[in-house]
Amino acid sequence: MTPLDLLDIDASLSEEERQIRAVVRQLVDDRVRPHVAGWYEDGHVPARELAREFGKLGLLGMHLTGYGCAGASAVAYGLACLELEAGDSGVRSLVSVQGSLAMYAIWRYGSEEQKQRWLPAMAAGEAIGCFGLTEPDHGSDPASMATRARRDGDDWILTGSKLWITNAPIADVGVIWARTDEGVRGFAVPMDTPGVTAREIRHKMSLRASLTGEIALDDVRLPADARLPEATGLKAPLSCLTEARHGIVWGALGAARDCLETALSYATTRTQFGRPLAGFQLTQAKLADMAVEWNKGLLLALHLGRLADAGKLRPDQVSVGKLNNVREAIAIARECRTILGANGVSGEYPVMRHANNLESVLTYEGTSEIHQLVIGQRLTGLSAFA
Ligand code: FAD
Repeated sequence: MTPLDLLDIDASLSEEERQIRAVVRQLVDDRVRPHVAGWYEDGHVPARELAREFGKLGLLGMHLTGYGCAGASAVAYGLACLELEAGDSGVRSLVSVQGSLAMYAIWRYGSEEQKQRWLPAMAAGEAIGCFGLTEPDHGSDPASMATRARRDGDDWILTGSKLWITNAPIADVGVIWARTDEGVRGFAVPMDTPGVTAREIRHKMSLRASLTGEIALDDVRLPADARLPEATGLKAPLSCLTEARHGIVWGALGAARDCLETALSYATTRTQFGRPLAGFQLTQAKLADMAVEWNKGLLLALHLGRLADAGKLRPDQVSVGKLNNVREAIAIARECRTILGANGVSGEYPVMRHANNLESVLTYEGTSEIHQLVIGQRLTGLSAFA
């Protein structure tokens, strides 16, 4: 329970949901908060170690069933994302990409052998997955992807490259999307296959506590059973993105909450002109507006989560949540930064780190503009994408 819960939204969570949230919050307090400023500064995160700890708690693929996955509700998964991102968006990204993108793709579209091979190890955090859709020349428009998979006897040969791929530098398996003569198909690619190389992208100014990479696929020979048999067409990777975007709808609120709590605490202790910053009407107006937006965002997340649990959530509804909650979270982070004055730009406080991280969150999993186009199409019946 946070003082920010102006609307008593907590009361509409079940006891189990509150317990899961408490466990994840404690884990973040113990394992992420004390170290994350250093990870961010160094541009490195002990992702394997964290994955094993998250695996022990059942956070990896937590909304999936079977194969060692926890089978939690969408709302419980959302609350976990919120708590993880209150620590850092990069840490939440590790969990999202593992569970909602790589594991979900194998769980939803893989063969029984692929599921048995990868999912239990991934749920335990012993194997790390990545999801390769974006390419150097094709981001928002994955339908134009250039990566090709062609048949050679029973085998497949993959050629191309993927860019900006979270977890790629340490991944054991990559879910790689490629164009074939029959359309877009997905492949579960062991990252140690000859011809696969993953290079880390350094010097990011955002999401520095997350490993991002470029994957080169140089005539990679794969057996026929590497293809995800149930994935036909672009709708397959897009359905994985819908899963991950739902987590982001919640996660972004975690980053915003941490900024707001920091700004509230700072404003009540920092004195100027003989009184706490929090006592000035202008500061209260900022805090009030931000808290109202945060509560609206949480109501939206909860509504979408309940729709997901009822099996009724549509992708365009997830776009509403991703567009609004990330846009508001980044606005909150920037406004909180002003309340901290010069300290706002210091790594001693989490606010600028969150604000910088949210720049990536605004861009990945569909940019704000792409979500506006999805909603525009829903409203008008006209596609304005191309
Ligand atoms: P572009 O598509 O080139 O877009 C540039 C700008 O043009 C954007 O503002 C965009 O909104 C706008 N634009 C594009 N088309 C239109 C249009 N039709 N109308 C109006 N405006 C338009 N990808 C993965 O596959 N897997 C990952 O794990 C992954 N992790 C990432 C991690 C980080 C840190 C980052 C930054 C990115 C990651 N991505 C990942 C890539 C991300 O999904 C893409 O960056 C995103 O889809 C946008 O593509 P782009 O960068 O090529 O931008």
